[in-house]
Amino acid sequence: MANSKRFSGKFGIVTGAGSGIGRAAALNLIQAGAGLSLADIDESSLKALTGEVAGSDAPKPLIQKADVSAEAEVQLLVDNTVARFGRIDFLVTSAGILRRTQFAELAISEWDLMMAVNLRGPFLCCRAVVPIMMKQGAGVIVNVASLAGRTASVLGGAHYTAAKHGVVGLTRHIARELGPANIRVNAFCPGATLTPMVQRATPPEELERIAGGMPIRRWSKPEEQARVIAFLLSEDSNFITGACIDSNGGAVMV
Ligand code: NAD
Repeated sequence: MANSKRFSGKFGIVTGAGSGIGRAAALNLIQAGAGLSLADIDESSLKALTGEVAGSDAPKPLIQKADVSAEAEVQLLVDNTVARFGRIDFLVTSAGILRRTQFAELAISEWDLMMAVNLRGPFLCCRAVVPIMMKQGAGVIVNVASLAGRTASVLGGAHYTAAKHGVVGLTRHIARELGPANIRVNAFCPGATLTPMVQRATPPEELERIAGGMPIRRWSKPEEQARVIAFLLSEDSNFITGACIDSNGGAVMV
């Protein structure tokens, strides 16, 4: 197929690649020929993923255990990616956590953890790759925000919503600054997607109730979301920057 290797010769980083949307995005990109650095706090999940793509003709992925909220670990991830592949064409920040704690019960420590992983994480990753992309004269970033960055979260608490709004703001601002450097930055805003994160936090009857309230009456598969991420990384979206791309089954229309 003409399009099947559309990421051959492209190299990038996917955070949160061990599970859910990040994992599906990584698999899709590797199948399309990309050379990837796969980052996650859970190293064993990355090893399992690389086992799955062992026969692929894409460059062998780099596995990097990294906590996206830790500056030194993010810098090491980026340095190792450049050492391995020589360049960084794209970044996908999918690492994230979900907490459902009600605002009245919310401890400051949990607020801080949420901000560290879900907002500082994308900030640190963008901050580390941008100088390299500027030197290259090109780059693409997709920050995985959420429907929670467009309205109030259905599943997450106020801290989750606040962090995701932060990701959208960060994305818009740096898209404006980096456009002249030929770096595109977009926020991807998935809605209900059946991943381990959601399955851990949600009883089956609630999953059903949420699906029933959406125009498309089902949960998305991570693979569907992965294809939207690939679109945003590809030349098919060359004029899209600073956008929030919704993929939410019509749950919120903005
Ligand atoms: P998931 O739990 O399946 O995957 C998240 C991955 O991030 C895991 O592998 C986890 O180990 C990793 N991670 C967590 N903390 C980390 C850290 N500090 N450093 C590095 N890696 C870390 O979740 P998912 O549903 O695939 O979520 C992926 C992204 O999509 C998140 O940012 C989430 O907020 C967002 N999102 C998910 C949904 C959904 O319905 N699943 C909807 C909207 C947005």
